[in-house]
Amino acid sequence: MSNENQEVIVVGGGPGGYVAAIRAAQLGGRVTLIEKSKLGGTCLNVGCIPTKVLLHSADLLAEANHAKDFGINVNVNGFDWKKVLEKKDSISSQLVNGINGLIKANKIKIINGTAQFVSPDTLSVTKVDGTKEIMGDGKIILATGSVPAIPLIPGVKENENCIDSTGALSLNEVPKSLLIIGGGVIGVEFASIYSQFGTKVTIIEALPKILPLMEEELTSLLRNKLERSGIDIYTEAKVQSVDSTPIGAKVNVEYKGELISFEAEKVLVAVGRRANTAELNLDKAGIENDRGRIKTNHKLETNIKNVYAIGDCLGEVMLAHVASAQGEVAAENAMGLETFYNGKTVPSCIFTNPEFAGVGLTEEKAKEEGIDYIVGHFPLMANGKALIMNGGEGMVKVILGKEYREVLGVHILGTRATDLIAECALAIGMEATIEDLIETIHAHPTLTEAVREAALATENRAIHAINKMVEKK
Ligand code: FAD
Repeated sequence: MSNENQEVIVVGGGPGGYVAAIRAAQLGGRVTLIEKSKLGGTCLNVGCIPTKVLLHSADLLAEANHAKDFGINVNVNGFDWKKVLEKKDSISSQLVNGINGLIKANKIKIINGTAQFVSPDTLSVTKVDGTKEIMGDGKIILATGSVPAIPLIPGVKENENCIDSTGALSLNEVPKSLLIIGGGVIGVEFASIYSQFGTKVTIIEALPKILPLMEEELTSLLRNKLERSGIDIYTEAKVQSVDSTPIGAKVNVEYKGELISFEAEKVLVAVGRRANTAELNLDKAGIENDRGRIKTNHKLETNIKNVYAIGDCLGEVMLAHVASAQGEVAAENAMGLETFYNGKTVPSCIFTNPEFAGVGLTEEKAKEEGIDYIVGHFPLMANGKALIMNGGEGMVKVILGKEYREVLGVHILGTRATDLIAECALAIGMEATIEDLIETIHAHPTLTEAVREAALATENRAIHAINKMVEKK
C-alpha cells in the first residue's frame, strides 16, 4: 500500500523527473515539480528527440537519392536547412506540450524556478520572476540531469566555432567541414547526421576505438561503414590545442607520435557530460556525492532520509530510458512501496545509419569475466526485409552461456536495430534460454527473423546462412 497524500517534490522535469512526478501522482501523492527551464529536459529539447529528427531528415535525403534503385524517379533538389530545423523544433515543442498536458491531467503542481537545498529537508526555489519559495516536509526526488563537459584544451573556450551538442542542433547553416572531438555516442550520431547533409566530417578519439562500450566486432563493422561513407576517423589521437583561423578553427592533434592539424569550419566538442548538481547546494544537505555525481542505493535513496536521486545527475548510465526507469522506482519508494532498480536490461542504442544496438554482455565482457560462452552470428544480407530496407547491411550477434544456455547478450548492427533490441532485452530480463528465442515463431518477412536465426546459429542450425558457430572457453 502506498502512503496516499504524501507530499513529493521533484526537482528537474526531464525524462527522469516528469516520469517520477507522474508515477508519484498515480499513487496518490501531492506532487510538485520544479523545473528551471522547459519540461522534457535534455531529452526532448536538446538531446534524444531533436537529434533523431535531424537524423530522420538526413535518412530521408539518403533514401530519396536511392529511390531510383527501386524504380522511383525522384528529382531531389537538395534540402532546405531552415525547414529541417523548423521541423525539429516543432516536434520537440509538440512533445513538450504533451508532457505539460500529462502533468496537468495528473494534478501535479509546476513551479518554474531553480531549486537549492538550505537544509537536508528543505529547498529554496528561486522562481523566474525572482521571488523565492521555501519547500520541505516531503519526499524529495532529485533529477537535475547533466550538462556537456568542456575539456581543458587550450583554445576551445575562446573559439566561438567550438560548439557543444546543443550548438550543433541549431547551426544557421550546414558547415562545409566539422571536426568532432570524441567518438562516443553523441559524436558518432552527429557525424552520421552532418555527413549525410554533405559536411566533411572528421572524428578524433583518444581511445583505441570509437563507441568504447559497444560490442567490438560490430563496432568495427560500423566504423568501416562510416569511413566508406566519407567520415575520417582517427583513434588513439589526442587533441592538444585549438587555434582560430579565418575558416573557423585549426585543431592540433597528437597522432602516432606526430603533431598533425585539421582545419574545420566548426568543432563539435563531444567528450561526455557531467552531472548537473552545482546549483543544488548538495553539501548544505550533506548529500553524498563524487564530484557532483549523487550516490544512491538500488532504491535510488541517497544517504539523506527522504531524498532520492535519479537519471543523469547520478553520473552513471546517461540515457533517457534509464532516467525514466529510475524515476518510476524512486517515486514508488517515495510513496511507501518497495521497488529496486535493475539495470540488467538497459539497451544501448546508437542512431547511426545503419543503427547499432546492444543489450547484456558483450563478447569482450564475457571473456573478461571468464564466462564459458557460445556466439551465433547472422548476416542481415540473408534477411529478406533487411535486404529490401537497406541492402542487407549489418549483422545480429547472440551470446549465450554454455552451461545453462541462457541469453547473455545480443548486439545488432542494421536497420531498425534500436527497435529489434527490445525483444532481446525482454529475453535477458526473463532469463530466457536460447531455446525460448528459437521456439518463438517470428513473422515473415520481418527483421525479427534475423534475431531468431542468430539464435539458431549458436546451435549450428541457422537455416538461411552457412553456420559458423564460435565456442569459447
Ligand atoms: P535531463 O533531461 O537533463 O533533465 C534535467 C532537468 O532538470 C532539466 O530540464 C533542467 O533544466 C532541470 N534542472 C537542473 N537543475 C535544476 C534546479 N536546480 N532546479 C530546477 N530544475 C533544474 N538518451 C537516450 O536514451 N537516447 C538518445 O537517443 C539520446 N540522445 C541524446 C542526444 C544528445 C545530443 C544528448 C545531449 C543526450 C542524449 N541522450 C539520449 C541522453 C538523454 O538526453 C539523457 O540521458 C536524459 O535526458 C536524462 O534525463 P534526466 O531527467 O536525468 O535529465
